[in-house]
Amino acid sequence: MTFQLLQPSTLAEACAALADAPGGVVPIAGGTDLLSEIRDGTATPSTLVALDAIADADLTGITETPDGGLRIGALTTIADVAAHEGIRSRHTALAQAAGGLATPQVRNLGTLGGNLNQRPRCWYYRHPLTVCLKRGGDRCYAIQGVGKYLCVTGGDRCFIVHPSDAAVALTALGASVTVASADGERTVAIADYFVGPDVDLMRENVLQPGELLTAVSLPSPAAGQRSIYLKARERESGDFALVSVATALVVTDGTVTEASVVLGGVAPVPYRARNTEEYLRGRAVDDVVPADAGAAAIADPRPLPDNAYKVPMASNLAARAVASLLSVA
Ligand SMILES: Cc1cc2nc3c(=O)[nH]c(=O)nc-3n(C[C@H](O)[C@H](O)[C@H](O)COP(=O)(O)OP(=O)(O)OC[C@H]3O[C@@H](n4cnc5c(N)ncnc54)[C@H](O)[C@@H]3O)c2cc1C
Ligand code: SF4
Repeated sequence: MTFQLLQPSTLAEACAALADAPGGVVPIAGGTDLLSEIRDGTATPSTLVALDAIADADLTGITETPDGGLRIGALTTIADVAAHEGIRSRHTALAQAAGGLATPQVRNLGTLGGNLNQRPRCWYYRHPLTVCLKRGGDRCYAIQGVGKYLCVTGGDRCFIVHPSDAAVALTALGASVTVASADGERTVAIADYFVGPDVDLMRENVLQPGELLTAVSLPSPAAGQRSIYLKARERESGDFALVSVATALVVTDGTVTEASVVLGGVAPVPYRARNTEEYLRGRAVDDVVPADAGAAAIADPRPLPDNAYKVPMASNLAARAVASLLSVA
């Protein structure tokens, strides 16, 4: 297919171009997801807006903020996120999520902004010949087809899981994103950034036409916070999560005072495991039984015929994360 490539040098030009013809004009960062969508016919843009020549906005790099947090420009590569010393030591779950996703080639080229805005991996959505509901068709092929990799909660006509590992870690760590448009900037808590098919079948986040994600901000972690990211997958490299978990805990005087537990691979958006969080909050570390913490990690599972395995997998992964962070068996 043919398309036009624009290379704006300012953020304002990029946002104006994107607002021009919603849907037909899309941003491109590293291209590791978008170009395969174009190749497969899943995306048919008339114009790509390259972000890498924008010079008037801090789109690349990781900087410390005055309050002790971090700001990560949207064009920062996944590899740079994984290697950053401050992220490895203070936001470990994010470093682990970024360092373990995809392959070295994808991590070197792919950006954090592209990772968070990548499109779903459902086989039917990605197949050139199956125009499913999410591509404007009239049916979900997964319901009677292969649902092994799809969601076990939160599905509504469409049963995707959000593919981003970084999204799961960032949700557990309480991150927010900066969204820019011709009208200025807005900040969105990452927990509110992703939307499921119950809200909109055709998109996976709150970005409006003409808007770009320009940065991710991580708050300064609470004193004593520890975090971890665990991912179950079929192959050790280049594979998306069957199920993943990001857990951040704060222990004060032998008691869990804060708990944030978020699952990936189980829902169309990162899924907060509230039952696990409630079990942990206020409990003395000596009284924590990891298997009990993870037992009802997914509150109301509704698996498809071939993906019920994800429910115990989520419980086990949540239990392992808790055991590892608290050093309890
Ligand atoms: C073999 C393989 C294995 C993979 N495994 C994993 C995995 O295990 N876990 C995982 O999380 N990911 C995985 N991925 C996905 C990979 O992480 C993404 O392809 C990559 O992060 C996308 O970044 P990019 O900069 O190349 O985005 P692009 O391909 O340039 O863009 C992706 C999408 O985001 C939009 N976009 C890009 N930047 C912005 C922005 N700043 N604001 C708004 N929209 C934007 C684009 O329009 C496009 O729709 C895998 C990919 C491959 C090819
Ligand atoms: S799960 Fe969603 S993306 Fe997959 S076939 Fe069904 S409607 Fe399409």
